[in-house]
Amino acid sequence: MPTAAPKIFRSFFITEAERSPTRADTKHPLTNPKAHVIISQQKAILSQKLGLVLADSPHGGIDGGCTTAEGIPEKGINLNILLKLRDMLEISGFEVRVTRDSDISIHDDGIEGIAAQKSSDMDNRLAIFNESSNAICVSIHQNQFTDPKYSGAQMFYSNSNKESEALARSLQNSFVEFLQPDNTREIKQCGKELFLCYYSENPTVMAECGFLSNPEEAALLTTEEYQSKVAFTLYAGIINFIES
Ligand SMILES: [Zn+2]
Repeated sequence: MPTAAPKIFRSFFITEAERSPTRADTKHPLTNPKAHVIISQQKAILSQKLGLVLADSPHGGIDGGCTTAEGIPEKGINLNILLKLRDMLEISGFEVRVTRDSDISIHDDGIEGIAAQKSSDMDNRLAIFNESSNAICVSIHQNQFTDPKYSGAQMFYSNSNKESEALARSLQNSFVEFLQPDNTREIKQCGKELFLCYYSENPTVMAECGFLSNPEEAALLTTEEYQSKVAFTLYAGIINFIES
């Protein structure tokens, strides 16, 4: 079932510059020589700048988020990518927090009704976003639109933290470099309607990793191999942001 937040964001997805997407061959990030450079630089980067990476898996429990044509909800895809990203970051020596590591809503006990539970879940996730003053926050979503032809990742940010735009640009560039060479989407600034991005006090990006309404992209996103590639793409974007 679509939730309020994705409906709001859907209005931003189509721009005049939008073109009919063509699927390009994807480079496997783990065989891309640049990827090895990034990994080999890890220790030097980490010794200079240590911080917390907070990875958010939106939707959980009764809130599945958007779905593929076959009814596969985004929540499981988001969670799989999140856990893979967490592992990559932890192996690299980062402290990582996740807003959930299983298919649950993290609303307060005793809250009744889906809308109130969703609101409580959002408030609790925001509290986690703001627990540390030295965190990078990435919220992992999948996208949906009425026209199935649209595909490709797009990063959303708010200017309430001045570093969020640079994080969004680094993540968007990473998708083009490692996964979607034909992706010409622009990063998009949003306001209060992007609740977590707007009220987060740390650099924060909502990463829409692909369109579940596009059959070809949905088929990719539901495979573990592609989920690993998306996780690596986010990982590389985070590392490049920290390095710059
Ligand atoms: Zn979503």
